[in-house]
Amino acid sequence: MTTALDAPPLDPILDDIVRTHRPQREAGSVPTHIPSLAAVPYNRFGIAVATASGDVFTSGDAHIPFSIQSISKVFTLAMALQRGGTSSVWSRVLREPSGTAFNSLVQLEVEHGIPRNPFINAGALVVTDHLMEETPDAASALLRFLAREAGGPGPFIDEAAAANELSNSSRNLALAHFLKDFRNLRQPAEFVVENYVRQCSIMMTCVELARAGLFLAREGHGTSGTVLSRNEAKRIGSIMLTCGMYDAAGEFAFRVGLPGKSGVGGGILVIVPGHCAICVWSPRLDAKGNSLAGSEALADLSDRTGWSVF
Ligand code: GLU
Repeated sequence: MTTALDAPPLDPILDDIVRTHRPQREAGSVPTHIPSLAAVPYNRFGIAVATASGDVFTSGDAHIPFSIQSISKVFTLAMALQRGGTSSVWSRVLREPSGTAFNSLVQLEVEHGIPRNPFINAGALVVTDHLMEETPDAASALLRFLAREAGGPGPFIDEAAAANELSNSSRNLALAHFLKDFRNLRQPAEFVVENYVRQCSIMMTCVELARAGLFLAREGHGTSGTVLSRNEAKRIGSIMLTCGMYDAAGEFAFRVGLPGKSGVGGGILVIVPGHCAICVWSPRLDAKGNSLAGSEALADLSDRTGWSVF
C-alpha cells in the first residue's frame, strides 16, 4: 500500500496532473451572479502542495491569483473558533451536511433560522456576524490572517468584484434578513452581507492558499505559529469532509477520500492530515458548483499517491 510518507516524488506527478487535466475546451459553467468570474479563461489550471515540513510543490497556473469565494468560509470559521467562546458560535450554527444548495432559503425557514453548517451561505453569514461583534471589518481581519499564514502580502480584496457581486446579492440579503427575523443575526443584515461578499472576493494563488491551509494538516500549527488547538483543527477537517463540497460532499469523499472546501471561483482546498495541504484551481464548474477539472485532478492525485484519510 502506498502511504503519504512513501508517496512517489511530487514534481513529475503534478506536471502530469496538469498535462492530463488542464481543460482543452470550454466545458461546465461559471456562476451568473458574480460577473467577474465569467472573464477568467476556461483553460486556467494550477495546483500547489504545501507539505508539513515546509516544502511547496507546484505546477501549471499555481501563481495566478483567483477569487477564493467560499474557501474563505474555512478561515472565518477558524477565526471564530480562535476567538474562544466556541459555544456561542456553535449555539448559532449546526454541523450537519445540508443536502440542499449552498444558498437555499427553504431549509433555513424550516429549521427556524439555525443554519445546517458554517460552509453554506447562511452559516457563513452567522460566522461573519459573530466575528463582526469584535472586529467590525472582519473581511480585512481575514485578509491579515490569510497573509500571515500564506507567508506574504500577496492576498488582496478585489473591491470592484465585491461591489459588483453585492449589486447581485438579493439571495444572500434574503438569507441575512431571514436570520435576523429568527434572531440569529446581531448586526444589520446589509453590513453582514457586504462584509461576507468582500471575504469571498479575496484573491489568492494556489501556493498562497495551500500554505494558508497548512495549519489544518498540522494539528493547528500554521506557518506563523499555533492557529488553533489540535481538537479545533480536527473539527474543521471533519466539517470539510462532510460539508465542504456543496451538495457533492458524499461523491467527493467517495472519489478523493480527503477533507476539502470548494469555492465557485473554481478553487478547492484539500487537507491530507499530518502531511500536506493541496490547492487546485480551474474556473469552470460542474452542476453542483465544484471545479470540474479540479475535482477530476484531485481524484487522480489521491489514486496516484494513496493520500486519503481512509
Ligand atoms: N460569494 C458567493 C456567494 O455567496 C460564494 C459562493 C461559493 O463560493 O460557494 O454566492
